[in-house]
Amino acid sequence: MTRHTLSLDQGLHGYLLDIGLTEPDVMRELREFTATHRLAKMQISPDQGQLLGWLARLLGVRNHLEVGVFTGYSALAVALAMPEDGRIVACDVSAAFTDVAREYWRRAGVDARIRLVLQPALDTLRQLLDEGRAGQFDMAFIDADKPSMPAYYEACLELVRPGGTIVLDNIFLGGRVVDPQPSDPPGVHVMHAFNAALRADRRVRICVLPIGDGMTLVHKL
Ligand code: CA
Repeated sequence: MTRHTLSLDQGLHGYLLDIGLTEPDVMRELREFTATHRLAKMQISPDQGQLLGWLARLLGVRNHLEVGVFTGYSALAVALAMPEDGRIVACDVSAAFTDVAREYWRRAGVDARIRLVLQPALDTLRQLLDEGRAGQFDMAFIDADKPSMPAYYEACLELVRPGGTIVLDNIFLGGRVVDPQPSDPPGVHVMHAFNAALRADRRVRICVLPIGDGMTLVHKL
């Protein structure tokens, strides 16, 4: 019996995907297309995508909020897991990346479920709050610029209903969060402090998962 999580070498990770991954063809096609992009590492791993879709089904998510779309893989995972009347508000700033997203959402037949808003995400989150949408989202996924993580989190915490879930990506930042160095970019220092503060946040219950580059599941009380 092991007392800590196994680190997955390539063989074991391949095995995990062999026995565990049930990825729809349209998601695989989008993932393979995105893998050719110079910023491909910004895409979540397929097992992370499956976790998001699995959570959406488990929680019966009808209203989802996404901060950081890139080429649309994570939003697609959630959209495919939603009922027909499910809705996603997707925040990003890049028309180039999200043009790819739109194409694959359309191919998958879920484009009508996703409202993409191209402007700084904090502006969109504030607008949603101004529109009275606090407490109306079942789930939020935050995977965007790391220096803004605390601000995204606070806004999403208002927008998600009690009992809802916020999923945070890249909480490990490749391991640099353990002992940030002065030479590290600001996001590393922000994430280090944010991770520590989240553990003491009485408004939520958390579960940190060593999947991908680290994901924290946040349950709003
Ligand atoms: Ca990410």
